[in-house]
Amino acid sequence: MRLPFTLLIDPVPADSLQQDFDLTFHEMDSSAPALRVGELSTQRGDGIFETLAVVNGYPQEVEPHITRLRNSARICELPMPNVQQWRAAIAYAVSRVPQRGEIALRFVLSRGVEHGPAPTAWLHAVAAADFSIVRANGVRVITLDRGYPRGVAERAPWLLMGAKTLSYAVNMAAIREARRRGADDTIFLTTDGFVMEGPTSSVVLRLGGEYVTPAPSGAILHGTTQQSMFDYLRAQGVAVQYRDVTVEELRQADAAWLVSSVRLAVSVVALDGDPFPADQAFTDALNAYLLARTS
Ligand code: PLP
Repeated sequence: MRLPFTLLIDPVPADSLQQDFDLTFHEMDSSAPALRVGELSTQRGDGIFETLAVVNGYPQEVEPHITRLRNSARICELPMPNVQQWRAAIAYAVSRVPQRGEIALRFVLSRGVEHGPAPTAWLHAVAAADFSIVRANGVRVITLDRGYPRGVAERAPWLLMGAKTLSYAVNMAAIREARRRGADDTIFLTTDGFVMEGPTSSVVLRLGGEYVTPAPSGAILHGTTQQSMFDYLRAQGVAVQYRDVTVEELRQADAAWLVSSVRLAVSVVALDGDPFPADQAFTDALNAYLLARTS
């Protein structure tokens, strides 16, 4: 029962009939060298990943995360992940980490080593940062141009929009730009003024009593937390919708949230320097629901 916890994984083909994967897992000392210098994930950011939360021993939304990993693999033309092996690897890790508190569990599939073993895969679990303050106080957000028009994913699939690739340098730069402007986080817009997503989160708005999120077209990720939020709302008979959302609609929304697996839901409390209406009671109730999930 320790953290950080690291597992190297020998990826098994998706169509393998193998049932027991324990011999494909190799526990590592997290501080020991584990990857080769020729790793294309580190040299080119050429790989895909997922981060899921483990709360009090319960891994959250395992199936949606594995489904998204497979979608990323398809977009990036990586070998299709073996669903059973990834389920087993997550279960193996969860059984070996503390059963109390919040843990961020990241799993990675890389194109592998240049002229060497390919693909490579690993899983790494760390204690989650303490997000209690930001969950309670919300985030100040700026909008930033992502530099692409709506429909870019269909026109230019080689940009790998919609895949959760390891190349997050742009996403991290957008968060630094937010900090430079006295804010905490970013909402990306298309060049033609449509809301996309945050650099590490999905965007959900409340507009006239209805909860709306940009349709997960090819250009943005289909957030697992946003899907849980919509389940929560549907169960209460509240209307939810996937559709295109303009920046004007964002500015006029009754409330808005950034939602993601480990930080969970945070209210937008300022947008481009102006105060923004927040519904903290809703945010608190939603986070209580999310933290109580047992799968
Ligand atoms: N969009 C991007 C670009 C992300 O990086 C993330 C999460 O890391 C999300 C959306 C939200 O996805 P999830 O709720 O599955 O964490």
